[in-house]
Amino acid sequence: MYDLNAIRAEFPILSREVNGKPLVYLDNGASAQKPQVVIDAVTRGYAEEYANVHRGLHYLSNLATDKYEAVRGIVARFLGAPSEDEIIFNSGTTEGINMVAYSWAGPRMQAGDEIILSVMEHHANIVPWHFLRERQGVVLKWVDTDATGALDADKVIAAIGPKTKLIAITQLSNVLGTQVDVKRICAAAREKGVAVLVDGSQGAVHAPVNVSDIGCDFYAITGHKLYGPSGSGAIYVTRERMEEMRPFMGGGDMIREVSKDAVSYNDPPMKFEAGTPGIVQTIGLGAALEYLMELGMDNVAAHEADLASYASARLTGLNWLGLQGTTADKAAIFSFTMQGAAHAHDISTILDKKGVAVRAGHHCAQPLMQHLGVNATCRASFGLYNTREEVDKLVEALELAHNLLG
Ligand code: PLP
Repeated sequence: MYDLNAIRAEFPILSREVNGKPLVYLDNGASAQKPQVVIDAVTRGYAEEYANVHRGLHYLSNLATDKYEAVRGIVARFLGAPSEDEIIFNSGTTEGINMVAYSWAGPRMQAGDEIILSVMEHHANIVPWHFLRERQGVVLKWVDTDATGALDADKVIAAIGPKTKLIAITQLSNVLGTQVDVKRICAAAREKGVAVLVDGSQGAVHAPVNVSDIGCDFYAITGHKLYGPSGSGAIYVTRERMEEMRPFMGGGDMIREVSKDAVSYNDPPMKFEAGTPGIVQTIGLGAALEYLMELGMDNVAAHEADLASYASARLTGLNWLGLQGTTADKAAIFSFTMQGAAHAHDISTILDKKGVAVRAGHHCAQPLMQHLGVNATCRASFGLYNTREEVDKLVEALELAHNLLG
């Protein structure tokens, strides 16, 4: 049973006020709040269990290493990965995708080779590919969303040509809440020998994920959106692709032996983890994922589906609100503009005065903004602890903003 009051009580920050009003936190798409178990894991990590990992033979170093390494198995379980050796730790999705661009895609792509992207990608899944375009003449092929914000998997599949080497695609849009049938795309891509990178930054937060079932080559997650610490993250890479990857960053931990004349590398996944990692952040990520698995991602998904349909009904009732992304199975992420000249920043400032935290801007998705013909939107993004009452407070605050600005 999904006890929302009990769940909310586990997130200390939710009981605070902002601007003299109870906090209504609707900026989960940018970063989620942390439950006490994560805060405790981080505190304990520093207060009782801290030392550098992998290098020491002393008690604390072994303890920290054991705690840190145990998270690899937790991530593998959370993602349904066949083996924890297919999990590479990093600081988040941005690093994960940059690693794939540098270590896997760069060395295997020639001028004229193609990467397929959807128009609703986050900059983290665009700019690393622009680097390859600028440096190597790789061609970026874009697939648009339709008027409802849906992305037709068949259009992505139809874009695959003889020069396509990679499809890099989000599972869930951070702006529109649109879900993408990545499993279907992966099945078609596999038949044609094309690799697929799934940006799971949002997808993994809102529903259960199983990378084996999806059939992707790469699946990137970011800890801070999964109710874990910022600076933590991981990427699932199949063994086959990992074997094809050259090292990413060079430094400690990723080597087997270094001499003046030569270097040999550690086995994967350590080969791709140079330097002292985010030790405690990663331990905190493990606590967050265990928390989510205990709650049950199916239960989280069901709760958020209820919020999504309630919020859809309430927000579509405001005929001066321009909702972007109206697909039937959209996640509880609502981007909107307001009729009249009201700028997204002004709307969010008024909402903030009412304690309602939303994001305003381009959401690191400028190609999508261009496609939608807007400069910016306001975005209310819900998480596992949000309530229907908070949807009502959002609507109340929007009505005030409309009265003042509309
Ligand atoms: N991809 C998507 C869909 C996102 O929403 C985000 C963050 O907003 C990212 C990638 C980048 O994540 P991070 O900044 O944690 O690396």
